[in-house]
Amino acid sequence: MTQIGAELLLYAGTAVDFAETVEVATFCPVCEKTDRTIDFTREGAVCRGQGHAFPGRMFAREVVTEGGRQRASYVFESPEGKPLPSWGRIRFVATCGACGKTTRGSIQNNEQRPKETRCACGQLLVTDEQKQPTFRRVEA
Ligand SMILES: [Zn+2]
Ligand SMILES: [Zn+2]
Repeated sequence: MTQIGAELLLYAGTAVDFAETVEVATFCPVCEKTDRTIDFTREGAVCRGQGHAFPGRMFAREVVTEGGRQRASYVFESPEGKPLPSWGRIRFVATCGACGKTTRGSIQNNEQRPKETRCACGQLLVTDEQKQPTFRRVEA
């Protein structure tokens, strides 16, 4: 099992809703290739490029808000004995505390940081400051 996690700094009453699903680039035992993009949901997982079912699914999803930060983590099944994923993306929707409009965003590896997400009204909603998502192995 692998845990993927990321956090956002919240500004001015922003509310963040993290997605129920995650995307990860990892070894696919069906393709027998690394860096396949896999879409994980609670029901299952799909190897996106090849369109076949991936043997695994997403389990725990946890969101914690503390000290002006909101952190999301997910646990998903991953093949034993293979390197940790090379890339991941966690999508979110941020609701502006000033005007109430929603803005879509995502946290993914290989992006310039810090990264700001702003509302159409100009309000700074969230920033993404560190290299993330992070990955670590966890016990089943
Ligand atoms: Zn595959
Ligand atoms: Zn706004």
